Amino acid sequence: MPSTPGNKKAAPLELPVAYLRGIGPRKASAFKQVGVTTLRDLLYYVPRRYIDRSTATKIGSIRGETKGEVSIIGRITEVQMVKGRGGTNRYEAALDDGTGTLHLIWFRQTNRVRKWITEGFSAVFSGKVNMYGGIPQIAHPEVMSLSKGEAVDLQQGKGRWIALYPGGKEFDKVDLDQRALRNLMDRAVGEYVHSVPEIWPQQLLDQFKLPTLSDGLRMVHRPHNAKERDLGWKRLKFDELVLFQLLWSWSRRRNRDKVKGIAYPEVGGLTRALIEEKLPFQLTDAQKRVMREIWNDMKQPHPMTRLLQGDVGSGKTVIALIAMCIAVENGHQAALMAPTEILAEQHWLTSRKFLDNLDIHVDLLTGSMSEKERRGKYERLSQGQPGIIIGTHALIQDKVKLPNLGLTIIDEQHRFGVAQRLKLMEPDHVKGRNFDGSDLLRPDVLVMTATPIPRSLALTLYGDLDVSRLDEMPPGRGMVTTKAYNADFERQKIYQQIAGRVRKGDRAYVIFPLVEQSEKLDLAAAETGHEELSAGAFKGLKVGLLHGRMKMEEKAEAMRKFASGETPVLVSTTVVEVGVDVPEATIMIIEHAERFGLSQLHQLRGRIGRGGRDGFCCLFFYPPLGRTAEGRLSIMQKTTDGFVIAEEDLRLRGMGDFFGVKQSGLPPLRFSDIVEDQDLVRLTRKVADDLINQSPDLRQFPALEKEFRRTALGRVGWLEAG
Ligand code: ADP
Ligand code: MG
Repeated sequence: MPSTPGNKKAAPLELPVAYLRGIGPRKASAFKQVGVTTLRDLLYYVPRRYIDRSTATKIGSIRGETKGEVSIIGRITEVQMVKGRGGTNRYEAALDDGTGTLHLIWFRQTNRVRKWITEGFSAVFSGKVNMYGGIPQIAHPEVMSLSKGEAVDLQQGKGRWIALYPGGKEFDKVDLDQRALRNLMDRAVGEYVHSVPEIWPQQLLDQFKLPTLSDGLRMVHRPHNAKERDLGWKRLKFDELVLFQLLWSWSRRRNRDKVKGIAYPEVGGLTRALIEEKLPFQLTDAQKRVMREIWNDMKQPHPMTRLLQGDVGSGKTVIALIAMCIAVENGHQAALMAPTEILAEQHWLTSRKFLDNLDIHVDLLTGSMSEKERRGKYERLSQGQPGIIIGTHALIQDKVKLPNLGLTIIDEQHRFGVAQRLKLMEPDHVKGRNFDGSDLLRPDVLVMTATPIPRSLALTLYGDLDVSRLDEMPPGRGMVTTKAYNADFERQKIYQQIAGRVRKGDRAYVIFPLVEQSEKLDLAAAETGHEELSAGAFKGLKVGLLHGRMKMEEKAEAMRKFASGETPVLVSTTVVEVGVDVPEATIMIIEHAERFGLSQLHQLRGRIGRGGRDGFCCLFFYPPLGRTAEGRLSIMQKTTDGFVIAEEDLRLRGMGDFFGVKQSGLPPLRFSDIVEDQDLVRLTRKVADDLINQSPDLRQFPALEKEFRRTALGRVGWLEAG
């Protein structure tokens, strides 16, 4: 049948869900609340689980409490409403699946449930099992109703696979139970799945053994067996990951071909003087290699977008200094942005030390400076004189104009989030800059991160960046031994031992954790710890104190005293986590180590053993320990390899909050899990690159281009098309 514009068949997928028979305004609005407005959205509203005989749990096989959720196919044999105190009722039902009996129990909405779950009712019931008086019980199970015939078929393994859809309050209110949902989805799949256009060339489908999109969607909703289910999901994940990675490949390519950057003509005398005369050491081979990679980018007429990965202490700061020096001596401003004030200050001191007597101006800008002081800096910076500016977030405020910015370096990037990084890369941040009247040149960007990032994550989070690695430590690093102790038993003893070592000349950090994200409490813990230790274990020794609320000069003073040995013990909050460099420090005690994340522990530990002498890191934990806390402490004792730690961290935490992926502003992945689907992440990166190489604007693949614009570009507003 020929399709005419305005005809329902013309663009059925963009039609509202209400077009589907069985969905009226009330159901449509319930769907809207879960993000489903069009028929296409409906087709992508995929099951959460599947049930068949092989995945259903037999009641008779349940022993004790189960860890995860179970699903049971069975019939209700008995029900009763039990009156509780204070007018609260609970509703109980006995569930039989032929192998045993399990109790279902509801404490809320009991009247509604009573009308629904009656004797003879058959369904799939899912939830966590608790043992109550020796009888397994599920409270507030998820219920997927079945017809009697279906239940029997399923139990005997005759029925097809049945999909369980994510439900919710919205759905309950409009009587969209699992059976109703399933019927709707049957209809949607039956009527519309064939209208879903294919986006990949046939050859690509063949190469990766993928079903067509309409087949894949059908398989996800209505698999005939496990193989179909997996194939369907593979297709959805593949699409999602390639489309996502295309964004990066496309952006990199566009960056290379279309966006103008600064081509620095030369490495001059200033930089040479820094490397050859000022630095008190030889660059490591890794540093030399990375410098070559950076210089290679800087001399190109398109902007550098590079990620520098190097473990704590691998010597990234020096690299930053050299790169900034090149930018300055070629007539530009260079900015270095650090995540904390103390680190910004430290960078500032380091650069003053190494650049001393060289003709190069270094400025510092942080949030704690007085308004007057800051205004003076804004004024200076807006004049665009070549020079280095070091600071914190204060640098990305709109008030700050860097009209001659040529290079931006972002240190310890994971603290900033992707959105902020992208802001720094966009030329409108450097408003006021005007080279030839109209053309905005984008500054070079170097992102430095001390926590190695698992490759699969790097590909998703930093897919638009080229990667350099400092995989070699400067010579003369000590070995650091790490041990975890139950503080309840061993705290005093270990503190006494450490006091002994300090008396013989060692220097020790004592770190207190952030308490409930509150700077006040955080401070209180450190202050109390400071008093307690000064009067107790470290009596007679000078104990310094450092926390985030101190004034800049006070912090610098506390650091100076610790560095000089005047106060050989420094009690501190986590402000020392990043970048602080006192080579003489050999001991670190971390209180409440169980509260710290793995990468944070690794960062902290990186502060000791820098000066060639071996170090000792003592982790005090306060039981009881959760499973992941135990995992973290055990990994810390086993390895100091940042990459191993990063992989383990990702595994322990899942990608949910790893480096703030959630807050990163990236489109969330609905179908894929970058930990479990690592191989697919890698594969799809290559697929995306190949597609862009074949056709940089994707014009060669019209269906794909359309989908790309509809999904990726639409969702990520910061990348304007074209
Ligand atoms: P990162 O920022 O990667 O944690 P830093 O740049 O702070 O590491 O370097 C750690 C320490 O090693 C500093 O004291 C620095 O001066 C020193 N350092 C850097 N490069 C070298 C080198 N090539 N040889 C010896 N010491 C170095
Ligand atoms: Mg550093």
